[in-house]
Amino acid sequence: MFGASCRSVPASMTLAGSGKAHCVIVRQAGATAPEQTAVKELAEHLRLITGAQFAVEDATDLSSVPKDAIIIGPGAAAQAVFPDVALDKLGPEEFVMRTKGGRLLLAGGRPRGTLYAVDRFLQEQGGVRWWTPWATNVPQRATLRIPNLNVRYQPPFEYREPYWFAGFDPLWKARNGPNGEMPQISAELGGCIIYKGFAHTFYPLVPPEKYFATHPEWYSLINGQRTRQNAQLCLSNPELRNFVVSRVKEWLREAPDARIISVTQNDCQGACQCPNCKAIDDAEGGPSGSVIAFVNYIAEKIEPDFPNVAVDTFAYQYTRHPPKTLRPRPNVIVRLCSIECNFRAPLDDPSNAAFLADLAGWSKICHRLYIWDYTTDFGNYVLPHPNWFTLGANVRLFQQYGVRGVFEQGAYQGFGGEMGELRAWVLAQLLWNPRQDDRALIQEFLDGYYGQAAAQPIRRYLDLMYGASKGFYLACYTRPNAPFRTFKVLAQAEALWQQAEKAAANDPEKLIRVRMAHLPVRLAFLRDWPRLRYDCWEENGVWPLPESRESAAGEFAEVARGVPGKPWTVVNPLRESGLTVAKYVAELGPDVPGTLGPPPPKRLAKARPPADLKGADLRGAVDLQDDVANLAKPGEWAEIRPDPAASDRRAVWMPGTHKEWAFVIPPGRLPEKARHGRWRVYAVVRVEPAAGAKPIAPVFSAGIYDETSRKSLASLTVNLGAAGDGYRSHWVGTAEMNPGCEIYVAPAADGAAKSVWVDRVLLLPAR
Ligand SMILES: [Zn+2]
Repeated sequence: MFGASCRSVPASMTLAGSGKAHCVIVRQAGATAPEQTAVKELAEHLRLITGAQFAVEDATDLSSVPKDAIIIGPGAAAQAVFPDVALDKLGPEEFVMRTKGGRLLLAGGRPRGTLYAVDRFLQEQGGVRWWTPWATNVPQRATLRIPNLNVRYQPPFEYREPYWFAGFDPLWKARNGPNGEMPQISAELGGCIIYKGFAHTFYPLVPPEKYFATHPEWYSLINGQRTRQNAQLCLSNPELRNFVVSRVKEWLREAPDARIISVTQNDCQGACQCPNCKAIDDAEGGPSGSVIAFVNYIAEKIEPDFPNVAVDTFAYQYTRHPPKTLRPRPNVIVRLCSIECNFRAPLDDPSNAAFLADLAGWSKICHRLYIWDYTTDFGNYVLPHPNWFTLGANVRLFQQYGVRGVFEQGAYQGFGGEMGELRAWVLAQLLWNPRQDDRALIQEFLDGYYGQAAAQPIRRYLDLMYGASKGFYLACYTRPNAPFRTFKVLAQAEALWQQAEKAAANDPEKLIRVRMAHLPVRLAFLRDWPRLRYDCWEENGVWPLPESRESAAGEFAEVARGVPGKPWTVVNPLRESGLTVAKYVAELGPDVPGTLGPPPPKRLAKARPPADLKGADLRGAVDLQDDVANLAKPGEWAEIRPDPAASDRRAVWMPGTHKEWAFVIPPGRLPEKARHGRWRVYAVVRVEPAAGAKPIAPVFSAGIYDETSRKSLASLTVNLGAAGDGYRSHWVGTAEMNPGCEIYVAPAADGAAKSVWVDRVLLLPAR
């Protein structure tokens, strides 16, 4: 699976037989710290695999290398044994694995190549897997043979950061291939790529609290005013440019190990509109023009003093589109950010066409294009976020477009991010070698980390959620109406996780992992509990959890508190703003009235006629029940709820805290005969008054709206006095209907109604 570049033939070398070492490990004179680490890493893991002690011997030249040996690193002895390998030409992360006459060479360029050679060898030939910093798999075999090897490999991305908290461990990173700085990797483990500043550094470089008063002209001119609020810098100002050059040099002197300095826009809009900035942006087709012109200037000025440092900037939100004629200098890195994209589909899906065009554009003009990609739901790290099967396609797409560095931002603030362990490992492997089969990697992780028995239902869960989200625009922040959070899907998901827990029941460690991974589905239930309860009843479903949300929330909180001595089992926080599980559960509060107990009586197939229209001629009437309407923000603005007083025992509930048209019967839901001719339209509504509300206060409105002519055909506002008790049929108006007509009901939002309940809309032929 790992050896994409491996051309091995069946002949073999035996490293150990029946638990006895058949060769020694050779450490060479002049070995660097990471090369010494590589020697220890190999000896230790070969012992764990085979049970044999492998002696480590020092060698300086050909004569001191034993006949059967694993030679570590690019020293003189290695070069003498393998004269045809240009060891001094290997890149800093490039390595070779070679066998010849009873000897194996594991060596790479400096600083990290040799350690990578050993860790890849242990994975590919030894079957070792470092799933997480706390979970390693070392297969045991007393006899270890390897095929002839002739491998030379260098990862295609120079910068690889799967930014998931589960992978925040220097040793895990060194073993799996990430080389970013969060957290930093020590020199003994090969070091890492160090940034000075990382994101949104315009103001840290030019703090407005220090400079705005004396140099307002250094900041954005917006609507005729220099401002520091939601703004950027005046990037064309020559004095500002030179000031930033001096600040960048200052920063780099503070951080001698930094190889990249971030000169990046603030996390807001607010590009400068002054004539000079605007002239550049107009000529370049957008605000990336003034940013690249500015960053090029900085990069040129610092290059003589800092030839090994690149200046990094963003193509982010308002600067995502590349400039027409400007070209980033060779010592400039552009980080293109995918924040607006649909992560359910690959980034080359038609729904992401604008991003793909920008990726293609930058890849043509930028020497060092990096990507800042988003792989979690920042609105809630723990909720299901079915992007698992697009990760591989996206990493391959980046490679295809010549991208040189990838930052995959995930749940980075704590443990418990949904499938965080899987994503950290799979992304690390894909960034190391994008040609691997991502679905096979996912399966391998599930089998290894959760155990093969539990892996089966978990894999079915991934497929279920992925399938249910087809066609949905999966943003990197929570959206209502996610189709994979319906009762039907979540009930199946819950059943699969219960199966997975059963399957892991005899392995306490794996059971802890499964229970933790189960939390996202539980959280999806907690989040939409009343709606899911009602939907379960509507669909005659079987509720898979306790009936009480309070008790389910207690179970959730207990698992999320974690297991003593295992920090990685503590789930926190739930979202980027820092919300804790304890606070979230406390805010859920007690059970919602009407969600407990047995299901309410079923919806009547045939609704009762309205009591207050008894005298009217109901022949030919059209009865549009609550379930015909489109609801906006279900569960928040509107929701179908049981109501014994409603004609079919169901009505749409809306809180009196908004005035949105949250109940809309769209043109497509009207029966054919109601799309033409003259109709008297009634809304059958019940209002639950707020305490102390006055009879003259408006409580809801209703109307007929023609989408074709964009005109209101009729509308009605009802006050509390007219709303009365119980359901009343309110005459909305009489209208000449056409196929573009929709009918809406909205609360009045002034607090007079606690809630507004819509039973049905009735259309009577106007005779
Ligand atoms: Zn300006």
